[in-house]
Amino acid sequence: MATDYFGVLGLAQGASDSEIKKAYRRLARDLHPDVNPDPEAKERFQEVTRAYEALTDPEKRRIVDLGGDPFDSGGGAGGFGGAAGFGGLGDIMDAFFGGAAARGPRSRTRAGRDALIPVELELDETVFGTTKDITVDTAVLCDTCSGAGTAPGTHPVTCATCSGRGEVQSVQRGFLGQVVSSRPCPTCAATGQVIPEPCPKCAGDGRVRARRTISVKVPAGVEDGMRIRLTGHGEVGPGGGPAGDLYVEVHELPHPVFTRDGEDLHCRVTLPMTAAALGTTLNLKTLDGEEDLDIRPGTQSGSVLTLRAHGAPRLRATGRGNLVVHVEVTTPTKLDAEQEKLLRELAALRGEDQPESHREAQGGLFSRVRDAFNGR
Ligand SMILES: [Zn+2]
Ligand SMILES: [Zn+2]
Repeated sequence: MATDYFGVLGLAQGASDSEIKKAYRRLARDLHPDVNPDPEAKERFQEVTRAYEALTDPEKRRIVDLGGDPFDSGGGAGGFGGAAGFGGLGDIMDAFFGGAAARGPRSRTRAGRDALIPVELELDETVFGTTKDITVDTAVLCDTCSGAGTAPGTHPVTCATCSGRGEVQSVQRGFLGQVVSSRPCPTCAATGQVIPEPCPKCAGDGRVRARRTISVKVPAGVEDGMRIRLTGHGEVGPGGGPAGDLYVEVHELPHPVFTRDGEDLHCRVTLPMTAAALGTTLNLKTLDGEEDLDIRPGTQSGSVLTLRAHGAPRLRATGRGNLVVHVEVTTPTKLDAEQEKLLRELAALRGEDQPESHREAQGGLFSRVRDAFNGR
């Protein structure tokens, strides 16, 4: 059975929004836990707040209008406080009373932040891994006070403003009547304690900035933009809290010969036309050392040769990528008389010296184009 939320607020079915609001204010003024300490009143307050939410939240109101119950999540009928319902209640409390009240003093000690530092690496360093010394400038524990923030021989004292509770209360007169609200104590930043004599080195923060050198092990196969995490090497927190993590971000420097595509490396070699036609052996300086590369007779410009497992190691698997060699064949220029004569003889021998046979060498393309023009 769906709850009659209008009835909970003492209203007739279909009461207007302003009537709902008015009724809720009137009830909340009497029942709010900060005004009325009676546990029964508290329960009733939750009930009317839930009704108010059901009738004013558009999503929930739609369910109510359809005869359903927005707080009934299939299980306990009429049971109060599904997670969703409670979140909603909190929202309403915030809206009416200006923020959730802090409870009890907060610790001075808080966790430190993470730090990020870039490191520039050569290609062979990212491919094979390396150990790098890097200098970091972060907050470290103050060695004078060991993070306590107090001058030697002194101690924190209880905050006089909040008597050590970390929060201060104020009474406000609002549309709900008198409302007592709590807020974090401004004197002690809600910690409940003040430091009468701060540590002279860290001014009470418990940490100081310092430069230090850390040895970073860079695993083989890292790529540009990847981050290596060094747990606990970030900034120490206020009051000497646990340090955050340090992230070392890899910046791979460009290589004069090789470009990288993930685990594969690419390079370009140029071959004279004659070598490409006759075949040759090419000596290539790879990252692993010199390798003989077999160029077959008749190699074309734009062809690709693959040296398996000469690329970067796979970070999350075994094995390595490939080295992909892109071959570019160069046409000779500045021929002297004898070279030109030889080339003409070669052309004649191959039947490549006449424009007519040229056209044939292009395949049927020209004739097909011609046919198309002539409408055949
Ligand atoms: Zn200190
Ligand atoms: Zn205080």
